[in-house]
Amino acid sequence: MTKATDDTAAGSAAGRPLVELADVSKYYGNIRALEAVSLQVHPGEITCVLGDNGAGKSTLIKIISGLHQHDAGSFRIDGRDSRLSNPREALDRGIATVYQDLAVVPLMPVWRNFFLGSEPTLGRGPLRRLDVAKMRATTHAELLRMGIDLRDVDQPIGTLSGGERQSVAIARAIYFGAKVLVLDEPTAALGVKQSGVVLKYVAAARDHGLGVVLITHNPHHAYLVGDRFILLKRGAMAGSHARAGITLDELTRQMAGGSELEQLSHELQREKS
Ligand code: ADP
Repeated sequence: MTKATDDTAAGSAAGRPLVELADVSKYYGNIRALEAVSLQVHPGEITCVLGDNGAGKSTLIKIISGLHQHDAGSFRIDGRDSRLSNPREALDRGIATVYQDLAVVPLMPVWRNFFLGSEPTLGRGPLRRLDVAKMRATTHAELLRMGIDLRDVDQPIGTLSGGERQSVAIARAIYFGAKVLVLDEPTAALGVKQSGVVLKYVAAARDHGLGVVLITHNPHHAYLVGDRFILLKRGAMAGSHARAGITLDELTRQMAGGSELEQLSHELQREKS
């Protein structure tokens, strides 16, 4: 790995993407999971990755979050060519991923889950103990800073709604210093109202200056918050648009398979008559 150059921070400030994939491909044996996919993640922006099942969204997340490595193309973090060997390394480089099936301990309080694996302690040696007061107060303050007003951070996290749990995970990533937040279908299992709640916190992460990658198959959710839209189809790029370059109708049409749906509609009509 090359040594970090002094211009790394200055480069980011000057508009260099936090993360950049250029022509990234990934093969599982001879299955093409991703082929020449390019995207950029900028601070204070939301990049949406849209695609149907099998489009390659999970594979893309796995590469960005350090679970898998790409086979071709380049993956740059802060301008440096990178190849992450595990999720810990991704976290150390400021990339946090929030999965749909959040790794939480349902019966433990919200504050305990907030700090899970990174608990602050008091004292030394045999007298070392968890700093419960700090965890409680910090969790409450951090959630409030994101506009999340939980009644009680002592309640088991399992009692929160799916949307609230996603929101806690987002606040946690921000608190632990993420620069890039990757969200895996955060609204997929949620109703309309809960989805709105989560999207509000996705926007809050953006307002905190994070670069957000929002994976979704819902063009309506993407368009509510997105600055850039990457469409994947069977592993390949089917479109890459800045917000100004595409309407919600067009995005929906492209997601729905546009001409394929029209063809299907014709076929169905013929069979009825
Ligand atoms: P999505 O998340 O958009 O549904 P995936 O990234 O899971 O898409 O899958 C993209 C393609 O790669 C699919 O054809 C899938 O079957 C294939 N694929 C994904 N993971 C593996 C794997 N571990 N081994 C073999 N093929 C895989």
